[in-house]
Amino acid sequence: MVAKNDTVIQLLRSKRLNVTDIRLQLLQLLLEPGTALSQKELEERLSSEGHSVDRVTLYRSIRTLLDKQVIHPITIDAQTVKYKLAGDHKKSDHPHFLCSHCQRMICMPQLSPSTEDLPEGFTLQSAQLLLEGLCPHCSLTTKQKDSEGE
Ligand SMILES: [Zn+2]
Ligand SMILES: [Zn+2]
Repeated sequence: MVAKNDTVIQLLRSKRLNVTDIRLQLLQLLLEPGTALSQKELEERLSSEGHSVDRVTLYRSIRTLLDKQVIHPITIDAQTVKYKLAGDHKKSDHPHFLCSHCQRMICMPQLSPSTEDLPEGFTLQSAQLLLEGLCPHCSLTTKQKDSEGE
């Protein structure tokens, strides 16, 4: 747990943010690669780990981390936004791939959607693209299961 803590503290310091309990707890949850959680899921995870969660504090911490581009939002649908460690991706205007099996969320900036086909007169302001399927690991394991059944 110490190494995890160090990484988070370094991350916060590099953004000139104070190290607070809630920021530490939040980022530790998001540190696992491929993890994207909504505010509700963060709240549930934190309280299941025995932390007392104040909803307003949690909301404010998420806002701060978004402002400082420590995390970035991913729109899932009209009701759900998930948050993911931003890493090298400062903005969230890139596609994401959600593995329907292990629920890992992977940033796919290399898949930038082409906006050249927009009809005349349209100005693009943001694009959210969510791809769903199986990650390489799950593709392999599901294939193996299929062939075992034969
Ligand atoms: Zn997967
Ligand atoms: Zn991303």
